[in-house]
Amino acid sequence: MKKIVIRIVLVFCFITLSVFNIVDIENLRTFIISTERVYKIRMKQHLFCLMMAYPEHAVDLEHSKNGHVYLIMKSGARILYDDKRAKSQEEIISNPDLQDMMEPIYPLGAIDRLMDMDFDPGRSRVYALLNEVYGGSSQQVKSNLDNVKTYYGYLQFNKNNNASASLKSVMDELIPLAQSRHDIRACLIPYGGTFNHRYIAGTNRLSPHAFGIAIDLARDKRDYWQWASRDEGQKRLESYPREIVEIFEKNNFIWGGKWGHFDILHFEYRPEIIMMASYFGDKNNTEALWYEGAPMDNALAMKYIKRINEVIR
Ligand SMILES: [Zn+2]
Repeated sequence: MKKIVIRIVLVFCFITLSVFNIVDIENLRTFIISTERVYKIRMKQHLFCLMMAYPEHAVDLEHSKNGHVYLIMKSGARILYDDKRAKSQEEIISNPDLQDMMEPIYPLGAIDRLMDMDFDPGRSRVYALLNEVYGGSSQQVKSNLDNVKTYYGYLQFNKNNNASASLKSVMDELIPLAQSRHDIRACLIPYGGTFNHRYIAGTNRLSPHAFGIAIDLARDKRDYWQWASRDEGQKRLESYPREIVEIFEKNNFIWGGKWGHFDILHFEYRPEIIMMASYFGDKNNTEALWYEGAPMDNALAMKYIKRINEVIR
């Protein structure tokens, strides 16, 4: 939503300037058309990544008469793409729509600096989506848990939407590496945990751990923005083995170390965020080729591109 606010402010500045004949009205028109075009391209990419990331759950789209776009879930539930409200940074975290959740592009690969405080890619979560995919109550989530073998015993993880299978493939790569690398082993023992039906400290929002889709590795007191200063967080970030981050990202997990509100021990299964970054993160797509970057050899991808072009014109 922040971009929409910026857009409104910019349009206002252009109008003011044009009144004084500083820019002409034709430039203003071009500017508005191009920002609308960027919005539409991003909307299509966001919806595409959501459908690719949750293929058994997000089954269709709807563009209603009043202009709202919805993601349609297998249960028939409709999740609104954009509520068109201007939101503060806090509200983007506490009450996001799908657009707010998808907008910040997660930076894939190695980083050497903590992110700015207002940049938290993937820290916004749409609970309507998580409830549909992983279970709408603690009981339902529990019935979807699977055991995953780790370097140090077994951990419970949600089996829906390939989450526990993805954690298994992380462990398949990480465990042999930990045997020869002391720094990696030190991050794996003892684990902080996975499934835990709890709320995020100081909020009434469920933690992603309550859905069994997040894992905390070994805890260091510099790992969390509420426990440590930014200088301490920065030092911990610099010493964190980048192989761990690479292996998790390769398997559709995001890292809390890439949030301004850093959470360095935390990895979370969020395929939609990783797909958005890897397909479109470094692209500057045109309206006609909004999907350039998507895996064109994938039949499902082709089906979703066709459907999105039919629904959103
Ligand atoms: Zn965590």
